[in-house]
Amino acid sequence: MSAVIEGSVLVVNAGSSSLKYQVLDPATEEVIADGLAERIGEQGSSIKHWYRGTEVRREVALPDHEAAIALVVELFAEEGVDVAESGLAAVGHRVVHGGRSFFEPTLITERVRSEIVRISSLAPLHNPANLTGIDAVSALLPDVPAVAVFDTAFFSHLPDETAHYALDAEVAAKYAIRRYGFHGTSHEYVSQRAAEFLGHAPSDINQIVLHLGNGASASAIRGGVPFDTTMGMTPLEGLVMGTRTGDIDAGIVFHLARVADMSIEDIDVLFNKRSGLKGLCGENDFRAILERIDAGDEAATQAYLVYLHRLRRYIGAYMIELGRVDAIVFTAGVGENAAPVRADSLAGLERYGVVIDSERNAVRSDEPRVISTDDSPVAVLVVPTNEELAIARAAVAVAG
Ligand code: ADP
Repeated sequence: MSAVIEGSVLVVNAGSSSLKYQVLDPATEEVIADGLAERIGEQGSSIKHWYRGTEVRREVALPDHEAAIALVVELFAEEGVDVAESGLAAVGHRVVHGGRSFFEPTLITERVRSEIVRISSLAPLHNPANLTGIDAVSALLPDVPAVAVFDTAFFSHLPDETAHYALDAEVAAKYAIRRYGFHGTSHEYVSQRAAEFLGHAPSDINQIVLHLGNGASASAIRGGVPFDTTMGMTPLEGLVMGTRTGDIDAGIVFHLARVADMSIEDIDVLFNKRSGLKGLCGENDFRAILERIDAGDEAATQAYLVYLHRLRRYIGAYMIELGRVDAIVFTAGVGENAAPVRADSLAGLERYGVVIDSERNAVRSDEPRVISTDDSPVAVLVVPTNEELAIARAAVAVAG
């Protein structure tokens, strides 16, 4: 079989019932294969696999992640590629929580794996799922170096004033309660791309990065170093998201437990899966929300206003925190594609040096671009995120 993926990296993002993967060449940025297995361990599981221009879809029983990886290997074999012998340089695994143990991409050894298990209580929905991906791949590709790239790493040195909650210090220390921040791979990649695009070193500029996808977070980055971010101990805090509340009065938890007789699990599901835009208007796809707003739908308009208000609150806070802002950068599904969100979130900020050019903002493109006017003191950019590429680069750097 041919070694047609030599030197490339398999990037794996394992969720509780899904497995996203990509094979890409970190040097040329070429995506060689891309796929998604869904409903793993459930009824109706399926896989979508794309390799060098050919797409295959199969409805097939996938009892666990190992079965999903085995099927991926089989689909490559059908294309004449023996993945184990193909010269993969590394496997890069997205791992959500690195706790206070992992501050950078790390080669996965037995000790590292045990530590990821130990800190899983910090992210009970995410880290165990990431581990199933790690175990499934290492069983099938034992000789390829595997690297964990942590979503929290970029934010692991937040200063004390943004890292701490005003909580009893002993309780916080005992249970590792602090603000960790997430989406770090994206905030780091996008802020570096934005600086490069503007012709500066990241250390020379201050940026506000708005990662607006289904999950959403903002960060204030001073001279390349994160100063603040909206997600905290868990990815629930901060902006209004597709299905998550973002910031919410913790007293609501006590109220629901006492008055609605809801269990902690019920409230967890309510806040993480049944809230945000979906909770407000029954919909978390931003395209549909914008269409409904155009059609005069009240619930969708209300949801949009709540979303926008939270976003503007953080933009304002981060402008004050940074003092001098050189760039505001939009990324992820909504940030890259929804021009009205970009325009509305920065409307009326001209007196603070933020001047959007509406024609530039309306342009659709997959490339990094400036959407502010040439004389806007603050540059406003759209920079497509590419977490897979960032993970692949980190994985080869660690694996050597
Ligand atoms: P995640 O990775 O968090 O699942 P994405 O970054 O893929 O999310 O973003 C998904 C969101 O982007 C969805 O709400 C989707 O509706 C929105 N989106 C994608 N394309 C567009 C578009 N053309 N206009 C508006 N919103 C869009």
